[in-house]
Amino acid sequence: MNKKILLLPGDGIGPEIVSQAEKFLRHFIDNGKLDAALDFAHLGGAGYDATGKPLPEETIAKAQASDAILLGAIGGWQYDKLPRELRPERGLLGIREALGLFANLRPAILFPQLADASSLKSELVAGLDLMIVRELTGGIYFGQPRGIETRQTDNGTEKVGFNTMHYSESEIARIMKVAFEIAQKRSGRLCSVEKANVLEVSELWREGAIAASKKYPDVELEHLYVDNAAMQLVREPKQFDVMVTGNLFGDILSDCAAMLTGSIGMLPSASFDENGKGLYEPVHGSAPDIAGQDKANPLATILSLEMLLRYSLDEAALADSIKNAVNKVLDKGLRTADIMSDGMTELGCEAMGDAVLAELQ
Ligand code: NAD
Repeated sequence: MNKKILLLPGDGIGPEIVSQAEKFLRHFIDNGKLDAALDFAHLGGAGYDATGKPLPEETIAKAQASDAILLGAIGGWQYDKLPRELRPERGLLGIREALGLFANLRPAILFPQLADASSLKSELVAGLDLMIVRELTGGIYFGQPRGIETRQTDNGTEKVGFNTMHYSESEIARIMKVAFEIAQKRSGRLCSVEKANVLEVSELWREGAIAASKKYPDVELEHLYVDNAAMQLVREPKQFDVMVTGNLFGDILSDCAAMLTGSIGMLPSASFDENGKGLYEPVHGSAPDIAGQDKANPLATILSLEMLLRYSLDEAALADSIKNAVNKVLDKGLRTADIMSDGMTELGCEAMGDAVLAELQ
């Protein structure tokens, strides 16, 4: 069956890195290994430049009609003075919301060839392969009421900022389902992270995790408070396999886990709706400081495509072939500037894409 894949290059280094991933798709399609059609749309600053909106209607329509989406990155200094609703970031939040992408998967994988790049000693991180499942459309980032108000106090008036963290049973149940199913496919261990000793919303989260665990007797469930989880992540990260947590805690913990792997240029991510439709993107941003200079590391985007093939198109063999090719290129000592070290050979973005493609062929 012909699958529709939508490419959203976005801003900054986005077009450079997405065009490397596109080479793999064209290679698979041209060689009869993948029955898919590619389409393109604007998002972020590119959407604003083309239509005056960071999330054009045409982009939403194309995204809704596609089986999977690959995004480069959005954002750029030239958009920082725009009103908030016209800035590129609004396009990214908007497409997540429009597609109902509530489950965010952020693997932290340390390729053994890059163990020296980690912020931890290499013996603590060698072989690290951790998956953080973050709830993406609820929690304190979206909860109402929110705002800044002037309130009366004993000493007159002062401004008060406030946000609301809430999760419903159904929101917890659906993210738990995603997390338990991933844990089943991996080591059979799941760590749920919250702050149930202080927050009622976390108490309900823990109840939801326990309720979900009844359906997955083959998965061992553990609970950790977020402060302890953060400490354990930097103390002994390999004790974890799959972690599931809410929007705010997941944002912080996944960035922390990302740094354990040394380079942000190596990390892919995926976000899913209830039917498993996914938007895939590198964890990093649009890197305006190196945009247009052929310096970007395309591997996070190529590895995001690997996830797209595995999770949305069920093409495990093609996904494996990409991962093997990345490994071979790293084995050969080929590096982009961000992961460069002594004795290795430095390549630009385009040449790195070609080198991985050559290993595939
Ligand atoms: P960034 O991730 O773009 O860059 C941080 C640093 O990492 C920079 O020095 C950059 O050169 C480097 N870097 C990032 N990706 C790289 C790659 N593939 N290869 C080599 N080096 C790489 O974060 P930032 O500087 O905080 O943000 C820049 C813009 O990106 C902002 O407009 C921000 O809003 C946006 N942003 C977008 C996303 C997204 O699209 N999902 C995520 C984060 C930030």
